[in-house]
Amino acid sequence: MTERIGSKRTGMPMKDNLVIAIDGPSASGKGTCGRYLASKLGFFHVDTGAMYRALTWYCLERGIDICDHARLLETVRSWPAELRAEDGEVSLVVSGVRLKGEIRSDAVAGSVARVSPVAAVRVWMVRTQRECLRFGSLVMDGRDVGTHVFPETPFKFFLTASDAVRAVRRRAEGSSEDTAKRDQLDLSRTVAPLEPARDAVRVDNSHDSAQATSEFMLAHVLSKRRSLGV
Ligand code: C5P
Repeated sequence: MTERIGSKRTGMPMKDNLVIAIDGPSASGKGTCGRYLASKLGFFHVDTGAMYRALTWYCLERGIDICDHARLLETVRSWPAELRAEDGEVSLVVSGVRLKGEIRSDAVAGSVARVSPVAAVRVWMVRTQRECLRFGSLVMDGRDVGTHVFPETPFKFFLTASDAVRAVRRRAEGSSEDTAKRDQLDLSRTVAPLEPARDAVRVDNSHDSAQATSEFMLAHVLSKRRSLGV
């Protein structure tokens, strides 16, 4: 199922679909817990970081200067990106290709936090992320999902873990990136900085397994659904 962004196809009525927003810094467990919740609930998972990475990768591939904001605006308005729902995930395909390893490169990791603060980029991303709802209910993870993408959802989590624990997790995943600089850029930017929504459930999982954190989140979602009748 591939969609041109901005197309008029109507899927399930958007008002009936639910969104679970999970925000937090790198290696806080958003992706692992988000995929678990999505699979248990039968929702689509959306990794919004992958979308920012895809645009960064595209710019680097094309030799587009990411410091030239006018060029970035032009690029984000015209790049060949579409939403696709596949294997329980909604993600961007670029020129028909679903990007995987290429968006996890050191080059992309080193540049993405300089692409993501650009206002025109964020406007396009937030609009596109909201369009994901046409595919069905979502578990969406990122930095600003609860604060800017779906501030209206009653299901919001903000995950954290200590710097030391997050560094161990990154090494276990085979990443040598020192994400402190990227986290700092994400925290300190003026547009949509990384911060918890006022009504987010904050979960410090420094001392918990991904399984325990996921189970806690699932129980919270199920109980909230019961109390809201949704
Ligand atoms: O989640 P991940 O580490 O892949 O995100 C890569 C980068 O994308 C972040 O460091 C941040 O700069 C940007 N991002 C963002 N807003 C989001 C998700 C990611 O600015 N909702």
